[in-house]
Order: sequence, then structure tokens, then C-alpha cells
Amino acid sequence: MTISIERLLRITAVRTPGFEPRYGCLSPFNKDDALGVLAQVQKKHPIGLMVLESEIAGCEAAGRTLINGVKLKMIAHGLNQASADALALLVWREVCGSLRCQSCNGVGERYSKRYRTLNECQACCGTGKTILTPKNLAKDFSVLVGEKVTSKAFNKRYYKLYINAVDQLHKCESDAAMYAASILRMIALQDVVTTR
Ligand SMILES: [Zn+2]
Repeated sequence: MTISIERLLRITAVRTPGFEPRYGCLSPFNKDDALGVLAQVQKKHPIGLMVLESEIAGCEAAGRTLINGVKLKMIAHGLNQASADALALLVWREVCGSLRCQSCNGVGERYSKRYRTLNECQACCGTGKTILTPKNLAKDFSVLVGEKVTSKAFNKRYYKLYINAVDQLHKCESDAAMYAASILRMIALQDVVTTR
């Protein structure tokens, strides 16, 4: 059995008495061990860890902190409160949220009662995930700010800020995950050495 950052987050999120997953079948890897590794990741990659916590463990506090951080950045770029709030929420949704297609409920296909056939969902092109085009981003953004923002206006004013923030959070996430993996490899190596 291997252990991953996903598993670490689940170990620490789930409070099951007596739940002690074993790592590499060599030594018990308990919640304290997991917290120890996460503390190291947090020290070096705090934002990346928050992304993982929000995305994998559904941690609301991490999500709120991320949204607030992105919002402050957007305000620094000259956006007003409402626009910054809306864009930060959309960024968080893309990086950490579930983007299940609303039309097919994530299945990727839709049943036609009329023709009795199963057809590829047109809304998500069969992927089961909402495709975030500038057009539907503009639509969601409009709902959040409470006024109509055309896709042209969204592209011009917000799209670059949006994409840059998404890319930055993905980068932080992958750095944190890689760092956690390197710590876990070290622990595995130590286990092998000490049990021989
Ligand atoms: Zn769909």
C-alpha cells in the first residue's frame, strides 16, 4: 500500500477511532504521522496545501482563505469589491470545486425520451464536466455580480486575471503535492533501512 497526499488529507480529515492505515506494510502510519507530514508541507507550501485541503478534503476554512486571498489580489489589480468577489469564487470553483455538468449530471450522456436513444451531452461534449468557456464564465460572472457582463467585456477585463489566478493556484498545488511526495519517499526509505 502506498500513501499519497490525498490519503494524508483523508487520514487527518476522518476521525475514526482505531483507524490506523499502514504504510508500506512496514510501520503503522497514523494520524499523528500524517499531521507531521502535513505540517512540513504547510511550512513550505501553505497555499498549495490549502488548495489540496479544499479540493480533496472539502475543507471549508481553506476554501474561504483561498477565495479571500484571490479576492485581495483582484482588488490590487483594480477590481471593485463585487467583481473581485465574483472572480475569486469562479477561480476557486475551477481549481477546487466540482464542475459536474448540470445538463447530464456528470454522466456525459442524455437520454432522449422522444427518440429513445442515448446521446452525447451537448453541454459538456460528453466529458461530464462543465466546459468553462469565456462565454459561460461571463454568464456565471454576470449572475454573481448581478448585472449583465457580455463575453466580450469579460474577455477584455477579467479573463486574463482569471486564467492567471487559476494557473498560479494549480502551480502551488502541484508544488505542495510534489513536496509531500518527496517527504513520504524519505519516510519509506527510512522504514526500509531501519527494519532491515
Ligand atoms: Zn453534460
